[in-house]
Amino acid sequence: MIKRVIHNKISFLINIFNVILKIAFMRFFSKEKVILETKCRECGMEFSESERMIRHMIKAHTKKKPSCNC
Ligand SMILES: [Zn+2]
Repeated sequence: MIKRVIHNKISFLINIFNVILKIAFMRFFSKEKVILETKCRECGMEFSESERMIRHMIKAHTKKKPSCNC
């Protein structure tokens, strides 16, 4: 059970890392503001900007919770 929780945490962090990397990559190669992923991968909430979505993901989903209330 503990192993499973750790695995979920790691896969979530990898998800965030992938999104941040994708945004950084797109920002580097395009001068225009590109809206990429604005939907939270964890709870499906939509945001006007990808940065807000990332901030939401970090703030709302990195807290230690026994169960998800999304
Ligand atoms: Zn969320």
